[in-house]
Amino acid sequence: ETESISQLIDRLAAVVPDYPEPGVSFKDLTPVFADPVGFRRIVDSIVDPFRGTFDLIAGLEARGFILASAAAYATGTGMLTIRKKGKLPREILAESYQLEYGEATLEVQRDDIPSGTRVLVLDDVLATGGTLNASTKLIERAGGVVVGIGVVMELEDLGGRGRLPGRHIHSLSAV
Ligand code: AMP
Repeated sequence: ETESISQLIDRLAAVVPDYPEPGVSFKDLTPVFADPVGFRRIVDSIVDPFRGTFDLIAGLEARGFILASAAAYATGTGMLTIRKKGKLPREILAESYQLEYGEATLEVQRDDIPSGTRVLVLDDVLATGGTLNASTKLIERAGGVVVGIGVVMELEDLGGRGRLPGRHIHSLSAV
């Protein structure tokens, strides 16, 4: 394989201008997920630097679920779902955060994370960092330890890393 992982993502990702609203450049990774070589490579690469350091892989609804479930299966770990408000039936912890317009809330079931569990958090795109910041807070409030964050693509201009100080963040490509 001579093509690097960032070249592969570059080649397969679809960039959609002005979606879902004017001014937003939407990074659609569905062609990467749909490619048999591409999907295996991004899943393997996203967990690579964290091998041996985690007990559980968290996926953020909804596109993070695709990565986290495949990565958990591939590494023989379990998978945790961090969900949008109102989807989880048992005792939850919730974190709300600001979006560009309005507010969003993420939830986790407290007893899905035994105290001291080392958690790797995966999502498709790091933009402003609000979603990942809320997710890491939830995991820590539940008693887990966040060992790292993996994303397929990082939108550097939006400064997401600045909202995640001290975190080990592994992004497969940056734009
Ligand atoms: P943020 O909280 O701003 O870091 O946004 C991250 C979440 O929103 C991720 O779950 C992404 O799937 C999604 N997202 C934000 N901006 C984009 C974008 N430009 N293209 C694709 N997905 C995005």
